[in-house]
Amino acid sequence: MTPSDLEFDQRHIWHPYTSMTHPLPTYPVVSATGVELVLSDGRTLIDGMSSWWAAIHGYHHPVLNEAAKLQIDKMSHVMFGGITHPPAVALCRQLVAMTPDTLECVFLADSGSVAVEVALKMALQYWQAKGKKRHRFLTLRQGYHGDTFGAMSVCDPDNSMHNLYKGYLPNHLFADAPQCQFGDEWQSEDIDSFKRLLLQYHDEIAAVILEPIVQGAGGMRIYHPEYLRQVRQLCDEYQLLLIADEIATGFGRTGKLFACEHAQIEPDILCLGKALTGGYMTLSATLTTRHVAETISQSEAGCFMHGPTFMGNPLACAVASASLKLLADSPWQQRIQSIETQLKTELFPLKSHRLVKDVRVLGAIGVVEMEQPVNVASLQRHFVQHGVWIRPFGRLIYLMPPYIIQPEQLSKLTNAITGAIN
Ligand SMILES: *Cc1c(COP(=O)(O)O)cnc(C)c1O
Repeated sequence: MTPSDLEFDQRHIWHPYTSMTHPLPTYPVVSATGVELVLSDGRTLIDGMSSWWAAIHGYHHPVLNEAAKLQIDKMSHVMFGGITHPPAVALCRQLVAMTPDTLECVFLADSGSVAVEVALKMALQYWQAKGKKRHRFLTLRQGYHGDTFGAMSVCDPDNSMHNLYKGYLPNHLFADAPQCQFGDEWQSEDIDSFKRLLLQYHDEIAAVILEPIVQGAGGMRIYHPEYLRQVRQLCDEYQLLLIADEIATGFGRTGKLFACEHAQIEPDILCLGKALTGGYMTLSATLTTRHVAETISQSEAGCFMHGPTFMGNPLACAVASASLKLLADSPWQQRIQSIETQLKTELFPLKSHRLVKDVRVLGAIGVVEMEQPVNVASLQRHFVQHGVWIRPFGRLIYLMPPYIIQPEQLSKLTNAITGAIN
């Protein structure tokens, strides 16, 4: 890439959550292989982010490349209305087989945020079909569910975009975020705020939506499985639907195939995305029970009212299907276990650092929470100089590397963090 390309980028192209007047620097990447990103000047960076939870098998994977090439020679896309095709059927068979038995019906969509919109709409249509007025969702503070309007409305109300869109956003219910961390002793009062809201508002609530065990972009918080177990129990007690947003946690990231397994619970609606295609392209899936699907289909509308143009995109389905097979055939449990052990060994010593508030590790996720917000631009420059790609936000410096990362590569990531903090 030429300097003029970068200039054009700065002047004309939006980046995620980035100012058009005072943009942070962007680094030109021209290719990526394994766990390395290649910059246009030839430098390589070890990737600590998996391109936001997605590239679990690493980049330029021969099996995924082959799946994309085979499919592109047959058809890249065809509409899903009135048509079906082998890649969608194969993928949905896999999804139904790998998720809890009760989740039988799959809705394919374009992105994680849309999967959340679909889940919320399913819950609303479910209650409408039952002739009940239930329009509110109960969720947790510090949550993150995406950037579209429905998804935004259930993100943390304080540290997200609620103020910006006041008046447009529906008014949902927010329980205090769980305080009891994964691995700590369970404190029964942790669930009190959630219980109180349920008690007071249960007949207005269509569903509970939450990220199981790991609250991602809302603060990288890792909470006690007992919290989730009790949420499930309470949902059963009050006959509410439970939506598990596993868009970040799904497909092994937390050490279980799905984070709900840490609490041995099953949701009524499950949202998947991010790692679904191994990070190759955008695709999401919302799964639900036969009961929810049938109830919706017996409603006045007669069907679920959603149908994106690129629904079930064959190219994305073919790669996703190959990625799930690759995951199933790989020793992912051992890989994630050894990443977890190494992250604990190499990051936990930072717990006693005076600038560090907390260090948390679960599965292939390592989080260093600082006392103060970090300077993203200067920290990122430091990381790039040290040959690693780590993108901090707020007070958080965190790692979620591809599962295929080697111990010496992971050490390079953790050393870069320790070096930067010192
Ligand atoms: C990233 C994320 C989303 C949104 O997915 P997009 O593909 O970015 O729209 C929703 N929920 C969770 C938990 C996420 O991590």
